[in-house]
Amino acid sequence: MNNNLSNIKKSKYFLDKHNCIGMPTETVYGLAANAYSSKAISKIFKLKKRPKNNPLIVHYSSLEMLKRDCILNENFTKLYNKFCPGPLTFILKLKKDSKISKFVTNKKKTLAVRFPSHPKAKGLLKILNYPLAAPSANISSRVSPVTRNHVKEEFGKKIKYIIEGGLSKIGLESTIINLTGKPEILRIGSIDINKLSKALKKKLLYRKKTYMKVPGQNRLHYSPGIPLRMNCKEASKDEAFILMKKRNNSNKNFFYLSKNKNLKEAARNLYSVLRMIKKKGYKKIAVEKIENKGIGLAINDRLQKASKKNK
Ligand code: AMP
Ligand code: MG
Repeated sequence: MNNNLSNIKKSKYFLDKHNCIGMPTETVYGLAANAYSSKAISKIFKLKKRPKNNPLIVHYSSLEMLKRDCILNENFTKLYNKFCPGPLTFILKLKKDSKISKFVTNKKKTLAVRFPSHPKAKGLLKILNYPLAAPSANISSRVSPVTRNHVKEEFGKKIKYIIEGGLSKIGLESTIINLTGKPEILRIGSIDINKLSKALKKKLLYRKKTYMKVPGQNRLHYSPGIPLRMNCKEASKDEAFILMKKRNNSNKNFFYLSKNKNLKEAARNLYSVLRMIKKKGYKKIAVEKIENKGIGLAINDRLQKASKKNK
């Protein structure tokens, strides 16, 4: 039996027994559990200290299995064909006879679903006869993990197993699109909204107002646990300074997201850099202005939430 296979079989063993495991995906690492088991889902909420009214995203590997739980529609099919598997989450109507635990949705009649493309996540989902609910594997409101070690830092021995899957390729959470009515973007991610509009042949807008109505999004989120300010030209000496491009006059409080303003690279490094700064004992963070285009929109969105004052 090759090593990868045994990792996946080990994960199945723990998941079948209603436990949570750490699962790599191309966006961030997830804390995964059987979406049909209320016992398993309660463990996710408890481990993450996640408010019960914040519904979870459920991960599938096949349309056949999704059809047991959700009502599909034309818009879904168009986007599924173009973007799946990948970093796109759909809100769909839940079927009345679905087996999804009511804790996943907080008794809502809709479900958030995704088809991850990470080979380890795909391999695991394929051998299970249930889908996996998997929010980011971090204590609620904090920075998402993008390596196996980050997940270990969050939960230590409280979880039985974490699959090794390398650094998450994208490094930011999925785009969320509501398809239960007129399509609307609820959270921006790495996918260009114009490409989604093109596939649907409809202009999609991203309105912060709608976003704020979504459960779980209207609070401090993605936070490194220390104050953060954005669009800074300079930083004080005791402040960690996050930059988009290497500077000649580098200082020990400078942290680089990219060698030369590459936004994808910056997105991939963002959460690791935030964690490193916290570990080094800094008490505050300044971030240089980040271009508001492409995945830069999603980076700025996360930084904005991270810079909110905790109530
Ligand atoms: P995460 O915090 O990355 O696990 O993202 C989950 C987010 O997806 C939640 O905070 C909600 O904003 C959104 N979400 C999940 N399920 C639903 C749903 N049924 N309807 C609307 N939004 C949802
Ligand atoms: Mg999260």
